Amino acid sequence: MPELFIGGRWIAAVDGRVREIRCPADGTPVATVDEAGPQDAAAAVAAAREAFDRGPWPATPAAERGALLLRVAALIERDKNALARAESLDTGKRLVESEYDMDDIANCFRYFGNLVAAGGTDRIVGTGNPGVDSRVVHVPVGVCALITPWNYPLLQTAWKVAPALGAGNTFVLKPSELTPHTAIILMRLLTEAGLPDGVANLVLGTGPDAGAPLTEDPRVDMVSFTGGLVTGRRIMAAAAATVKKVALELGGKNPNIVFGDADYETAVDYALTAVFLHSGQVCSAGARLLVQDELHDRFVEDLVARARAIPMGGPFAEDARTGPLISAAHRDKVEAYVAAGVAEGAVLRCGGVRPEDPALRDGYYYPPTVLTECTPGMSVVRDESFGPVLTVERFRDEAEAVALANDTVYGLTGAVWTQNAERAERVASLLNAGTVWINDFHPYVPQAEWGGMKQSGVGRELGPTGLAEYQEAKHIWRNT
Ligand code: NAD
Repeated sequence: MPELFIGGRWIAAVDGRVREIRCPADGTPVATVDEAGPQDAAAAVAAAREAFDRGPWPATPAAERGALLLRVAALIERDKNALARAESLDTGKRLVESEYDMDDIANCFRYFGNLVAAGGTDRIVGTGNPGVDSRVVHVPVGVCALITPWNYPLLQTAWKVAPALGAGNTFVLKPSELTPHTAIILMRLLTEAGLPDGVANLVLGTGPDAGAPLTEDPRVDMVSFTGGLVTGRRIMAAAAATVKKVALELGGKNPNIVFGDADYETAVDYALTAVFLHSGQVCSAGARLLVQDELHDRFVEDLVARARAIPMGGPFAEDARTGPLISAAHRDKVEAYVAAGVAEGAVLRCGGVRPEDPALRDGYYYPPTVLTECTPGMSVVRDESFGPVLTVERFRDEAEAVALANDTVYGLTGAVWTQNAERAERVASLLNAGTVWINDFHPYVPQAEWGGMKQSGVGRELGPTGLAEYQEAKHIWRNT
Protein backbone atom coordinates (compact mmCIF):
# COMPACT_ATOMS: atom_id res chain seq x y z
CA MET A 1 0.00 0.00 0.00
CA PRO A 2 1.37 3.46 -0.83
CA GLU A 3 2.29 5.70 2.11
CA LEU A 4 1.35 9.27 1.23
CA PHE A 5 -2.08 10.14 2.65
CA ILE A 6 -3.78 12.92 0.73
CA GLY A 7 -7.48 13.81 0.75
CA GLY A 8 -8.37 10.56 2.51
CA ARG A 9 -6.57 8.34 -0.02
CA TRP A 10 -3.29 6.43 0.18
CA ILE A 11 -1.22 7.33 -2.86
CA ALA A 12 2.32 7.00 -4.20
CA ALA A 13 4.60 9.92 -5.00
CA VAL A 14 3.89 11.51 -8.39
CA ASP A 15 7.41 10.84 -9.63
CA GLY A 16 7.57 7.37 -8.07
CA ARG A 17 10.40 8.19 -5.66
CA VAL A 18 10.91 5.91 -2.65
CA ARG A 19 13.27 5.74 0.36
CA GLU A 20 14.59 2.71 2.15
CA ILE A 21 14.38 2.98 5.94
CA ARG A 22 17.01 1.06 7.93
CA CYS A 23 17.18 0.49 11.68
CA PRO A 24 20.04 2.60 13.15
CA ALA A 25 20.82 -0.19 15.63
CA ASP A 26 22.06 -2.69 13.04
CA GLY A 27 21.28 -1.40 9.56
CA THR A 28 18.57 -3.98 8.87
CA PRO A 29 16.03 -2.76 6.30
CA VAL A 30 12.73 -1.79 7.93
CA ALA A 31 10.70 -0.90 4.84
CA THR A 32 10.66 1.12 1.67
CA VAL A 33 8.30 4.09 1.69
CA ASP A 34 7.07 6.59 -0.86
CA GLU A 35 8.90 9.90 -0.82
CA ALA A 36 7.05 13.08 -1.74
CA GLY A 37 8.30 15.96 -3.84
CA PRO A 38 6.92 19.48 -4.31
CA GLN A 39 3.97 18.28 -6.45
CA ASP A 40 2.81 15.87 -3.76
CA ALA A 41 3.21 18.57 -1.11
CA ALA A 42 1.08 20.92 -3.21
CA ALA A 43 -1.60 18.23 -3.63
CA ALA A 44 -1.67 17.69 0.13
CA VAL A 45 -2.05 21.42 0.76
CA ALA A 46 -4.89 21.57 -1.79
CA ALA A 47 -6.68 18.73 0.03
CA ALA A 48 -6.22 20.37 3.44
CA ARG A 49 -7.36 23.74 2.05
CA GLU A 50 -10.48 22.24 0.52
CA ALA A 51 -11.34 20.36 3.71
CA PHE A 52 -10.97 23.56 5.70
CA ASP A 53 -12.97 25.76 3.33
CA ARG A 54 -15.69 23.19 2.62
CA GLY A 55 -15.95 21.89 6.17
CA PRO A 56 -17.45 20.39 8.21
CA TRP A 57 -14.44 19.96 10.53
CA PRO A 58 -13.74 23.63 11.46
CA ALA A 59 -17.40 24.17 12.39
CA THR A 60 -17.86 20.83 14.15
CA PRO A 61 -18.88 21.51 17.76
CA ALA A 62 -15.94 21.53 20.15
CA ALA A 63 -17.47 18.71 22.18
CA GLU A 64 -17.41 16.45 19.10
CA ARG A 65 -13.87 17.40 18.20
CA GLY A 66 -12.82 16.68 21.78
CA ALA A 67 -14.59 13.33 21.68
CA LEU A 68 -12.69 12.38 18.53
CA LEU A 69 -9.38 13.13 20.27
CA LEU A 70 -10.42 10.90 23.16
CA ARG A 71 -11.17 8.10 20.69
CA VAL A 72 -7.70 8.57 19.19
CA ALA A 73 -6.18 8.28 22.69
CA ALA A 74 -7.98 4.95 23.18
CA LEU A 75 -6.82 3.66 19.77
CA ILE A 76 -3.21 4.57 20.58
CA GLU A 77 -3.50 2.60 23.80
CA ARG A 78 -5.02 -0.33 21.89
CA ASP A 79 -2.15 -0.32 19.34
CA LYS A 80 0.58 0.69 21.76
CA ASN A 81 2.77 -2.38 21.16
CA ALA A 82 2.78 -2.08 17.38
CA LEU A 83 3.40 1.67 17.58
CA ALA A 84 6.26 1.30 20.06
CA ARG A 85 7.89 -1.39 17.94
CA ALA A 86 7.62 0.73 14.77
CA GLU A 87 9.10 3.72 16.61
CA SER A 88 12.02 1.67 17.92
CA LEU A 89 12.81 0.19 14.51
CA ASP A 90 12.89 3.65 12.91
CA THR A 91 14.84 5.40 15.67
CA GLY A 92 16.89 2.62 17.30
CA LYS A 93 15.40 3.77 20.61
CA ARG A 94 15.01 1.23 23.43
CA LEU A 95 11.61 -0.44 23.22
CA VAL A 96 10.82 0.40 26.82
CA GLU A 97 11.38 4.12 26.08
CA SER A 98 9.13 3.92 23.01
CA GLU A 99 6.47 2.31 25.19
CA TYR A 100 6.68 5.23 27.66
CA ASP A 101 6.36 7.59 24.70
CA MET A 102 3.14 5.87 23.57
CA ASP A 103 1.64 6.33 27.04
CA ASP A 104 2.58 10.02 26.89
CA ILE A 105 1.08 10.30 23.41
CA ALA A 106 -2.25 8.81 24.52
CA ASN A 107 -2.19 11.23 27.48
CA CYS A 108 -1.55 14.15 25.17
CA PHE A 109 -4.60 13.30 23.02
CA ARG A 110 -6.66 12.76 26.17
CA TYR A 111 -5.56 16.08 27.68
CA PHE A 112 -6.42 18.10 24.57
CA GLY A 113 -9.62 16.09 24.06
CA ASN A 114 -10.85 17.05 27.50
CA LEU A 115 -9.63 20.64 27.20
CA VAL A 116 -11.40 21.17 23.89
CA ALA A 117 -14.59 19.43 24.99
CA ALA A 118 -14.73 21.65 28.09
CA GLY A 119 -14.70 24.76 25.84
CA GLY A 120 -14.47 27.94 27.85
CA THR A 121 -11.92 30.15 26.12
CA ASP A 122 -14.55 32.45 24.52
CA ARG A 123 -15.55 35.40 26.71
CA ILE A 124 -17.82 38.40 27.05
CA VAL A 125 -15.98 41.70 27.12
CA GLY A 126 -17.35 44.49 29.30
CA THR A 127 -17.28 47.68 27.23
CA GLY A 128 -19.08 49.92 29.73
CA ASN A 129 -21.55 50.65 26.93
CA PRO A 130 -25.06 49.23 27.60
CA GLY A 131 -25.92 49.29 23.87
CA VAL A 132 -23.10 46.93 22.94
CA ASP A 133 -22.66 43.17 23.08
CA SER A 134 -18.92 42.47 22.79
CA ARG A 135 -17.47 38.95 22.66
CA VAL A 136 -14.13 37.34 21.93
CA VAL A 137 -14.45 33.95 20.26
CA HIS A 138 -11.73 31.55 19.15
CA VAL A 139 -11.61 30.14 15.65
CA PRO A 140 -9.13 27.79 13.96
CA VAL A 141 -6.15 29.32 12.15
CA GLY A 142 -6.78 27.32 8.95
CA VAL A 143 -4.41 24.98 7.12
CA CYS A 144 -1.40 24.03 9.26
CA ALA A 145 1.91 22.56 8.07
CA LEU A 146 3.22 20.35 10.87
CA ILE A 147 6.91 19.51 10.47
CA THR A 148 8.54 17.16 12.97
CA PRO A 149 11.97 15.66 13.83
CA TRP A 150 13.26 12.10 14.23
CA ASN A 151 14.12 11.93 17.93
CA TYR A 152 10.58 11.63 19.36
CA PRO A 153 8.71 11.12 16.08
CA LEU A 154 5.17 10.39 17.26
CA LEU A 155 5.39 12.36 20.50
CA GLN A 156 6.36 15.60 18.73
CA THR A 157 3.64 14.87 16.16
CA ALA A 158 1.00 14.35 18.87
CA TRP A 159 1.91 17.67 20.51
CA LYS A 160 0.92 19.34 17.23
CA VAL A 161 -1.81 17.12 15.79
CA ALA A 162 -3.94 16.98 18.96
CA PRO A 163 -4.27 20.76 19.51
CA ALA A 164 -4.42 21.52 15.76
CA LEU A 165 -7.37 19.15 15.33
CA GLY A 166 -8.92 20.15 18.63
CA ALA A 167 -9.01 23.77 17.52
CA GLY A 168 -10.67 22.80 14.20
CA ASN A 169 -7.76 23.14 11.77
CA THR A 170 -6.83 20.90 8.87
CA PHE A 171 -3.21 19.94 8.37
CA VAL A 172 -0.41 18.48 6.31
CA LEU A 173 2.06 16.52 8.42
CA LYS A 174 5.65 16.07 7.28
CA PRO A 175 7.60 13.85 9.66
CA SER A 176 11.34 13.39 9.43
CA GLU A 177 12.31 11.41 6.35
CA LEU A 178 14.26 9.08 8.69
CA THR A 179 11.33 8.03 10.90
CA PRO A 180 8.04 7.87 8.97
CA HIS A 181 6.31 4.77 10.31
CA THR A 182 4.37 5.93 13.36
CA ALA A 183 3.02 8.89 11.37
CA ILE A 184 1.64 6.44 8.80
CA ILE A 185 -0.06 4.43 11.56
CA LEU A 186 -1.44 7.62 13.12
CA MET A 187 -3.22 8.52 9.86
CA ARG A 188 -4.98 5.15 9.95
CA LEU A 189 -6.02 5.68 13.55
CA LEU A 190 -7.37 9.18 12.83
CA THR A 191 -9.48 7.73 10.03
CA GLU A 192 -10.69 4.92 12.26
CA ALA A 193 -11.65 7.51 14.89
CA GLY A 194 -13.92 9.16 12.31
CA LEU A 195 -11.93 12.17 11.09
CA PRO A 196 -13.37 13.41 7.76
CA ASP A 197 -11.27 12.99 4.59
CA GLY A 198 -8.84 15.79 3.83
CA VAL A 199 -8.53 17.04 7.41
CA ALA A 200 -5.34 15.07 8.05
CA ASN A 201 -2.79 14.68 5.25
CA LEU A 202 0.65 13.09 5.29
CA VAL A 203 3.63 13.70 3.05
CA LEU A 204 6.85 11.76 3.63
CA GLY A 205 10.07 13.15 2.27
CA THR A 206 13.05 15.39 2.82
CA GLY A 207 13.02 18.94 4.15
CA PRO A 208 13.93 20.63 0.88
CA ASP A 209 11.59 18.51 -1.33
CA ALA A 210 8.54 17.95 0.85
CA GLY A 211 8.88 20.37 3.80
CA ALA A 212 9.99 23.64 2.21
CA PRO A 213 7.09 23.70 -0.32
CA LEU A 214 4.67 23.62 2.63
CA THR A 215 6.35 26.62 4.25
CA GLU A 216 6.19 28.60 1.00
CA ASP A 217 2.64 27.75 -0.11
CA PRO A 218 0.29 30.74 0.23
CA ARG A 219 -2.62 28.37 0.98
CA VAL A 220 -0.95 27.36 4.26
CA ASP A 221 -1.88 29.63 7.19
CA MET A 222 0.46 28.34 9.87
CA VAL A 223 3.70 26.39 10.19
CA SER A 224 4.39 24.52 13.39
CA PHE A 225 7.91 23.17 13.39
CA THR A 226 10.06 21.14 15.76
CA GLY A 227 13.68 20.65 14.81
CA GLY A 228 17.07 22.29 14.67
CA LEU A 229 17.88 25.99 15.01
CA VAL A 230 19.25 26.40 11.48
CA THR A 231 16.16 24.81 9.91
CA GLY A 232 13.96 26.91 12.20
CA ARG A 233 15.54 30.10 10.91
CA ARG A 234 14.96 28.97 7.32
CA ILE A 235 11.33 28.14 8.03
CA MET A 236 10.70 31.46 9.73
CA ALA A 237 12.18 33.28 6.74
CA ALA A 238 10.11 31.22 4.26
CA ALA A 239 6.92 31.83 6.25
CA ALA A 240 7.59 35.57 6.30
CA ALA A 241 6.83 35.88 2.57
CA THR A 242 3.12 35.25 3.21
CA VAL A 243 3.13 36.23 6.92
CA LYS A 244 2.14 32.80 8.16
CA LYS A 245 1.70 32.20 11.82
CA VAL A 246 4.82 30.38 13.04
CA ALA A 247 5.42 28.15 16.06
CA LEU A 248 8.98 26.90 16.53
CA GLU A 249 10.35 24.32 18.97
CA LEU A 250 14.09 24.36 18.41
CA GLY A 251 17.19 23.09 20.15
CA GLY A 252 18.68 23.53 23.58
CA LYS A 253 22.03 23.49 25.35
CA ASN A 254 20.60 23.06 28.76
CA PRO A 255 22.39 23.70 32.06
CA ASN A 256 22.18 21.27 34.96
CA ILE A 257 23.44 23.13 38.06
CA VAL A 258 24.61 21.17 41.09
CA PHE A 259 25.33 23.08 44.30
CA GLY A 260 27.54 21.77 47.09
CA ASP A 261 24.52 21.05 49.29
CA ALA A 262 22.68 18.91 46.71
CA ASP A 263 21.33 15.47 47.60
CA TYR A 264 24.51 13.87 46.30
CA GLU A 265 23.46 10.39 45.14
CA THR A 266 20.32 11.60 43.38
CA ALA A 267 22.17 14.45 41.72
CA VAL A 268 24.85 12.10 40.30
CA ASP A 269 22.25 9.66 38.96
CA TYR A 270 20.12 12.37 37.42
CA ALA A 271 23.13 14.10 35.88
CA LEU A 272 23.57 10.89 33.87
CA THR A 273 19.91 10.48 32.89
CA ALA A 274 19.69 14.18 32.09
CA VAL A 275 22.16 13.84 29.23
CA PHE A 276 22.35 10.17 28.25
CA LEU A 277 18.62 9.45 27.87
CA HIS A 278 18.00 8.36 24.26
CA SER A 279 21.75 8.75 23.63
CA GLY A 280 21.56 12.49 24.21
CA GLN A 281 19.20 12.98 21.27
CA VAL A 282 16.78 14.95 23.40
CA CYS A 283 16.12 18.68 23.01
CA SER A 284 15.81 19.13 26.77
CA ALA A 285 19.01 17.16 27.58
CA GLY A 286 21.13 18.47 30.44
CA ALA A 287 24.25 18.58 28.29
CA ARG A 288 26.07 21.25 30.33
CA LEU A 289 26.78 20.16 33.87
CA LEU A 290 27.78 22.97 36.21
CA VAL A 291 29.19 21.77 39.53
CA GLN A 292 30.15 23.88 42.52
CA ASP A 293 33.90 23.86 43.24
CA GLU A 294 33.73 22.09 46.61
CA LEU A 295 31.88 19.10 45.10
CA HIS A 296 33.43 19.06 41.64
CA ASP A 297 36.19 16.43 41.84
CA ARG A 298 34.28 13.82 43.82
CA PHE A 299 31.16 14.34 41.68
CA VAL A 300 33.09 13.91 38.44
CA GLU A 301 34.83 10.74 39.69
CA ASP A 302 31.52 9.07 40.51
CA LEU A 303 29.79 10.34 37.39
CA VAL A 304 32.52 9.02 35.10
CA ALA A 305 32.59 5.63 36.82
CA ARG A 306 28.83 5.26 36.34
CA ALA A 307 28.89 6.60 32.76
CA ARG A 308 31.52 3.97 31.80
CA ALA A 309 29.23 1.24 33.09
CA ILE A 310 26.17 2.15 30.99
CA PRO A 311 25.53 -0.82 28.66
CA MET A 312 24.84 -0.05 25.00
CA GLY A 313 22.59 -2.11 22.76
CA GLY A 314 19.76 -2.22 20.27
CA PRO A 315 16.09 -1.47 20.95
CA PHE A 316 15.27 -5.04 21.94
CA ALA A 317 18.37 -5.81 24.06
CA GLU A 318 16.92 -6.03 27.55
CA ASP A 319 20.11 -5.18 29.43
CA ALA A 320 20.91 -2.11 27.28
CA ARG A 321 20.49 1.29 28.88
CA THR A 322 21.47 3.38 25.87
CA GLY A 323 21.18 2.85 22.12
CA PRO A 324 22.58 4.03 18.81
CA LEU A 325 22.51 7.47 17.22
CA ILE A 326 20.10 8.04 14.38
CA SER A 327 22.56 7.94 11.47
CA ALA A 328 26.19 7.67 10.42
CA ALA A 329 26.21 11.38 9.55
CA HIS A 330 24.91 12.30 12.98
CA ARG A 331 27.56 10.17 14.70
CA ASP A 332 30.24 11.90 12.61
CA LYS A 333 28.89 15.25 13.81
CA VAL A 334 28.90 14.23 17.48
CA GLU A 335 32.41 12.82 17.14
CA ALA A 336 33.62 16.06 15.54
CA TYR A 337 32.27 18.08 18.49
CA VAL A 338 34.16 15.89 20.96
CA ALA A 339 37.38 16.18 18.94
CA ALA A 340 36.95 19.97 18.76
CA GLY A 341 36.37 20.11 22.52
CA VAL A 342 39.58 18.19 23.22
CA ALA A 343 41.49 20.37 20.75
CA GLU A 344 40.17 23.44 22.57
CA GLY A 345 41.41 22.16 25.95
CA ALA A 346 38.67 19.94 27.39
CA VAL A 347 39.77 16.72 29.12
CA LEU A 348 38.17 13.51 27.84
CA ARG A 349 37.27 11.48 30.95
CA CYS A 350 35.32 8.65 29.33
CA GLY A 351 33.81 7.60 26.03
CA GLY A 352 34.91 9.47 22.91
CA VAL A 353 35.75 6.28 20.97
CA ARG A 354 33.40 4.12 18.92
CA PRO A 355 32.75 0.75 20.58
CA GLU A 356 34.77 -2.26 19.38
CA ASP A 357 32.12 -4.82 20.37
CA PRO A 358 31.35 -6.76 17.14
CA ALA A 359 27.68 -6.92 18.17
CA LEU A 360 27.48 -3.15 17.81
CA ARG A 361 29.53 -2.87 14.62
CA ASP A 362 26.62 -2.42 12.21
CA GLY A 363 24.85 0.28 14.27
CA TYR A 364 25.66 3.96 14.77
CA TYR A 365 26.83 3.61 18.37
CA TYR A 366 28.75 6.23 20.31
CA PRO A 367 29.44 5.78 24.02
CA PRO A 368 28.45 8.05 26.90
CA THR A 369 31.18 10.69 26.87
CA VAL A 370 32.25 13.11 29.61
CA LEU A 371 34.48 16.13 29.05
CA THR A 372 35.79 18.14 32.02
CA GLU A 373 37.65 21.45 32.36
CA CYS A 374 35.23 22.90 29.84
CA THR A 375 34.81 26.64 29.29
CA PRO A 376 31.93 28.64 27.76
CA GLY A 377 33.73 29.53 24.52
CA MET A 378 34.27 25.91 23.39
CA SER A 379 32.08 24.79 20.49
CA VAL A 380 31.19 21.58 22.36
CA VAL A 381 29.81 23.74 25.18
CA ARG A 382 28.15 26.32 22.94
CA ASP A 383 26.49 24.22 20.22
CA GLU A 384 23.92 21.47 20.49
CA SER A 385 25.84 18.27 19.63
CA PHE A 386 22.62 16.27 20.16
CA GLY A 387 24.59 13.22 21.24
CA PRO A 388 25.71 11.46 24.46
CA VAL A 389 28.22 14.15 25.35
CA LEU A 390 28.35 15.84 28.75
CA THR A 391 30.51 18.90 29.30
CA VAL A 392 31.43 19.80 32.88
CA GLU A 393 32.20 23.31 34.10
CA ARG A 394 32.89 24.41 37.67
CA PHE A 395 31.53 27.44 39.50
CA ARG A 396 32.29 29.27 42.76
CA ASP A 397 28.95 30.76 43.79
CA GLU A 398 25.33 31.29 42.86
CA ALA A 399 25.98 34.36 40.72
CA GLU A 400 28.60 32.58 38.66
CA ALA A 401 26.34 29.53 38.24
CA VAL A 402 23.50 31.66 36.88
CA ALA A 403 25.82 33.61 34.59
CA LEU A 404 27.30 30.41 33.13
CA ALA A 405 23.88 28.78 32.81
CA ASN A 406 22.44 31.72 30.87
CA ASP A 407 25.52 32.15 28.68
CA THR A 408 23.90 30.50 25.64
CA VAL A 409 21.72 31.50 22.70
CA TYR A 410 19.29 28.77 23.78
CA GLY A 411 16.67 28.82 26.53
CA LEU A 412 14.75 25.55 26.55
CA THR A 413 15.30 23.87 29.94
CA GLY A 414 17.52 24.00 33.00
CA ALA A 415 17.78 22.34 36.39
CA VAL A 416 19.08 23.27 39.81
CA TRP A 417 20.10 20.84 42.56
CA THR A 418 20.25 22.17 46.10
CA GLN A 419 18.59 21.49 49.44
CA ASN A 420 18.30 25.20 50.10
CA ALA A 421 14.72 25.99 49.03
CA GLU A 422 15.24 29.75 48.86
CA ARG A 423 18.28 29.42 46.67
CA ALA A 424 16.44 26.94 44.46
CA GLU A 425 13.59 29.38 43.87
CA ARG A 426 15.98 32.29 43.35
CA VAL A 427 18.04 30.44 40.73
CA ALA A 428 14.91 29.06 39.03
CA SER A 429 13.57 32.57 38.63
CA LEU A 430 16.87 33.79 37.12
CA LEU A 431 17.30 31.02 34.54
CA ASN A 432 16.20 32.06 31.06
CA ALA A 433 14.48 28.83 30.12
CA GLY A 434 10.98 27.68 29.29
CA THR A 435 11.16 24.81 31.81
CA VAL A 436 13.16 24.73 35.04
CA TRP A 437 13.40 21.65 37.24
CA ILE A 438 14.32 21.84 40.91
CA ASN A 439 15.94 18.60 42.18
CA ASP A 440 14.70 16.72 39.13
CA PHE A 441 15.31 16.41 35.40
CA HIS A 442 13.13 15.69 32.36
CA PRO A 443 9.58 15.24 33.71
CA TYR A 444 6.76 17.10 32.01
CA VAL A 445 2.98 16.89 31.93
CA PRO A 446 0.65 17.83 29.07
CA GLN A 447 -1.10 20.33 31.36
CA ALA A 448 2.03 22.53 31.54
CA GLU A 449 3.36 24.61 28.65
CA TRP A 450 6.55 23.47 26.90
CA GLY A 451 8.80 25.64 24.78
CA GLY A 452 11.86 27.78 24.55
CA MET A 453 13.04 31.28 25.30
CA LYS A 454 15.65 33.07 23.17
CA GLN A 455 16.66 31.00 20.11
CA SER A 456 15.06 27.82 21.45
CA GLY A 457 11.84 28.81 19.81
CA VAL A 458 8.72 30.84 19.36
CA GLY A 459 5.46 29.97 21.11
CA ARG A 460 4.54 27.07 23.36
CA GLU A 461 3.25 23.54 23.00
CA LEU A 462 1.04 21.71 25.53
CA GLY A 463 -1.09 23.38 28.17
CA PRO A 464 -3.85 25.87 27.31
CA THR A 465 -1.30 28.00 25.41
CA GLY A 466 -0.50 24.98 23.24
CA LEU A 467 -4.13 24.96 22.11
CA ALA A 468 -4.27 28.75 21.70
CA GLU A 469 -1.34 28.57 19.23
CA TYR A 470 -3.75 26.91 16.79
CA GLN A 471 -6.52 29.46 17.27
CA GLU A 472 -7.20 33.02 16.21
CA ALA A 473 -8.99 35.28 18.65
CA LYS A 474 -11.87 37.09 16.97
CA HIS A 475 -13.61 40.06 18.57
CA ILE A 476 -17.27 40.47 17.66
CA TRP A 477 -18.82 43.83 18.54
CA ARG A 478 -22.60 44.03 18.16
CA ASN A 479 -24.42 47.31 18.41
CA THR A 480 -27.71 46.29 19.97
P1 NAD B 1 15.96 19.17 11.46
O1 NAD B 1 15.83 20.63 11.67
O2 NAD B 1 17.10 18.67 10.63
O3 NAD B 1 14.65 18.56 10.79
C1 NAD B 1 13.38 18.68 11.39
C2 NAD B 1 12.33 18.52 10.31
O4 NAD B 1 12.40 19.63 9.41
C3 NAD B 1 12.46 17.27 9.46
O5 NAD B 1 11.17 16.77 9.16
C4 NAD B 1 13.14 17.79 8.20
O6 NAD B 1 12.91 17.01 7.06
C5 NAD B 1 12.46 19.15 8.07
N1 NAD B 1 13.16 20.15 7.27
C6 NAD B 1 14.49 20.27 7.05
N2 NAD B 1 14.75 21.34 6.27
C7 NAD B 1 13.56 21.92 6.00
C8 NAD B 1 13.16 23.07 5.26
N3 NAD B 1 14.05 23.85 4.65
N4 NAD B 1 11.86 23.37 5.20
C9 NAD B 1 10.94 22.62 5.83
N5 NAD B 1 11.24 21.52 6.54
C10 NAD B 1 12.55 21.17 6.64
O7 NAD B 1 15.99 18.53 12.92
P2 NAD B 1 16.23 17.02 13.30
O8 NAD B 1 17.68 16.73 13.10
O9 NAD B 1 15.21 16.15 12.64
O10 NAD B 1 15.87 17.04 14.87
C11 NAD B 1 16.76 17.38 15.86
C12 NAD B 1 16.51 18.80 16.34
O11 NAD B 1 15.18 18.92 16.83
C13 NAD B 1 17.39 19.17 17.51
O12 NAD B 1 17.93 20.45 17.30
C14 NAD B 1 16.43 19.18 18.70
O13 NAD B 1 16.83 20.00 19.76
C15 NAD B 1 15.18 19.64 18.06
N6 NAD B 1 14.02 19.27 18.90
C16 NAD B 1 13.41 20.23 19.66
C17 NAD B 1 12.34 19.90 20.49
C18 NAD B 1 11.66 20.93 21.35
O14 NAD B 1 10.65 20.61 21.96
N7 NAD B 1 12.16 22.16 21.43
C19 NAD B 1 11.89 18.58 20.53
C20 NAD B 1 12.53 17.62 19.75
C21 NAD B 1 13.60 17.98 18.94
